[in-house]
Amino acid sequence: MSDYINNAYQLTSQETSLIKKEFSTHTDWNKKIFDQLKKNIVLHLRKEQDNKCCYCKHELGFDIKDVEIEHIVPKSTFSKFTFCCKNLALSCPGCNTKKGTKNVLNKPIKNYPRSGNAFKIIHAHYDSYPQHIQIDNKSVYIALSSKGSETITICELFRLNKVEDNMKKFNAEQQSILAWLTEEIRTSKPEEQAAFIREIKRRIRNE
Ligand SMILES: [Zn+2]
Repeated sequence: MSDYINNAYQLTSQETSLIKKEFSTHTDWNKKIFDQLKKNIVLHLRKEQDNKCCYCKHELGFDIKDVEIEHIVPKSTFSKFTFCCKNLALSCPGCNTKKGTKNVLNKPIKNYPRSGNAFKIIHAHYDSYPQHIQIDNKSVYIALSSKGSETITICELFRLNKVEDNMKKFNAEQQSILAWLTEEIRTSKPEEQAAFIREIKRRIRNE
């Protein structure tokens, strides 16, 4: 699997004319008429990105709310790049929200840049992620370059460190409850054991 998107989405001629007809400013992105086009983009990019968020590299969920089409250059600042396919990548809602409309450019631009040099952050179409960020234990982000460091700051990737810590704490808690229940079963009367076993099953299923 490549470290960046090799093939941007290619608009069909119908999609190009739809955009010509229906798009004038970045808020048009939310028009219902573009729903199918957005679905096609998501489908294409999921494959290109190995179903991972372009910023944190966590697996993207399959529900529509678990994946967002991210505008690398914010569409509110550069309306004209709203449907520019090189400007689109999939991200998790967390990274998309944290990145918001923060500036990602090194200098002012007129046309869409053809390389990653113009960008402060890792560009999903141009830059090889592992050259800029090393991820330890799926949650600790280590910058290997200034681009890596800017990406960590702009998307607040350190937030995932906390999530991982919480998960560990949660798991440890669950483990100790399970150990306690198991001990209870060992020492309880046969008629009580069934109830404890039910409780363990319930906790394992996380009900
Ligand atoms: Zn993410």
